[in-house]
Amino acid sequence: METSDQHLLIVGAGHAGSELAVSARQNGWAGRITLLGDEPALPYHRPPLSKAWLAGQVDEDGLLLRPRSAYETARVELVSGARMEAIDRANRRIALADGTSMAYDKLALCTGGRPRPLSCAGLVPGARPRNLHYLRTMADAEGIRAQLTPGARVLIIGGGYVGLEVAASARGLGAEVTLLELQDRVLARVAGPEVSAFYERVHRAAGVDLRTGTQVASVEVDGDAIRAVVCRDGTRLPVDLVVAGLGMLVNVEAARVAGIAEEGGIPVDELSRTRDPHIVAAGDCTLQFNSLYGRELRIESVPNALEQARAAGSWLGGKPKPHRAVPWFWSDQYGLKLQMAGLSQGYERCVLRGDPDTRSFSAFYVDGERLLAMDAVNRPADFMLAKRALAQVCTVDVERLADEAVPLKELLHSAPVVAPAI
Ligand SMILES: Cc1cc2nc3c(=O)[nH]c(=O)nc-3n(C[C@H](O)[C@H](O)[C@H](O)COP(=O)(O)OP(=O)(O)OC[C@H]3O[C@@H](n4cnc5c(N)ncnc54)[C@H](O)[C@@H]3O)c2cc1C
Repeated sequence: METSDQHLLIVGAGHAGSELAVSARQNGWAGRITLLGDEPALPYHRPPLSKAWLAGQVDEDGLLLRPRSAYETARVELVSGARMEAIDRANRRIALADGTSMAYDKLALCTGGRPRPLSCAGLVPGARPRNLHYLRTMADAEGIRAQLTPGARVLIIGGGYVGLEVAASARGLGAEVTLLELQDRVLARVAGPEVSAFYERVHRAAGVDLRTGTQVASVEVDGDAIRAVVCRDGTRLPVDLVVAGLGMLVNVEAARVAGIAEEGGIPVDELSRTRDPHIVAAGDCTLQFNSLYGRELRIESVPNALEQARAAGSWLGGKPKPHRAVPWFWSDQYGLKLQMAGLSQGYERCVLRGDPDTRSFSAFYVDGERLLAMDAVNRPADFMLAKRALAQVCTVDVERLADEAVPLKELLHSAPVVAPAI
């Protein structure tokens, strides 16, 4: 398509939005490109907010996804601190919070998500105590870091990645850390019991008071701060700050009103196209059918955001290249690199390769002979092999998988996926 007089308007200046802008230009989008976001800063890396940045090992410039000059070179106009409120599909305009509106020829929605709020007795909806934190943005991370002094009593609610990474960073800064997890193990949504048990041991050895099967009942607020958290079993935990890592809610309200999103996200195809031919979407806010797993998925990860953004950019630029990658993710805690490829839900058996006590092992999730997913702890070579194999339907020699004398690549056998029509 000839695009020289067309306007591509991208809403959401995070991982997906930044990548989509540059990718559309590289693929041949000739017209105007605007990248509009509601945060004040240039697009930045979100993962370090709970890791190296929180631990004080990276400065603000080190967080930027790209320097300002990269947007200038790609002729991308940046509009910061601007919030989209509504989409008028019939007239191809968006309404902004300041009362103005902007026209588009193509619209890209890259609005990500926001933290799920803590709800319990003692909290008044809409009035957040000054020491209750969530973690999604740089502003959130700055708020946590300002209160994370040595000896501070930090209570973390939620044993998912964000909660565990904040716990590790806080211990590194000398804080006293208690972590509460409602389920009977940490990482219950994403990893098998063996991997959960390993991370629980590591956190406890680092001095974290980790309590699974524990639910928050209420908070005691004194003035504008939480003084203590009370658990369902009656335990009262005095705190200096609380960080709630309870997962995220997708930012799709405007897209829902416009009729292109469901509660769980914006459905897109392998080129990141929505059901409106003038609108694409990428990143955490999308739902995409995955031919490897035969179901619609919403993936919260940087690689997924980048790959969907590139697929959208390729289509907008007239060189369509569908996104069919295997989902993958990483997490850094206490110098341990956890890398996960595939999705383990519904697995029948978990086979370990290597000994968790050596702090280097891999967990393979199989269903019959089919490999569904793998988690690697300090084993990048295993991860790379398995990730490549998982990009197709992968069977595995389950009986020999634990035998480290047999090279992993001899045990993995891949066959192409027959992709159903979308
Ligand atoms: C603390 C933390 C650690 C993480 N660690 C990892 C990790 O180790 N590995 C990994 O793969 N992933 C990690 N993630 C997840 C990863 O950051 C997300 O998957 C990724 O940021 C998704 O990119 P996105 O562009 O879809 O959304 P985002 O990066 O959230 O960007 C969306 C942007 O849109 C803006 N926006 C929303 N609504 C509007 C609107 N109406 N108008 C204007 N702007 C709007 C938002 O403010 C935001 O700036 C982590 C996330 C967090 C919070």
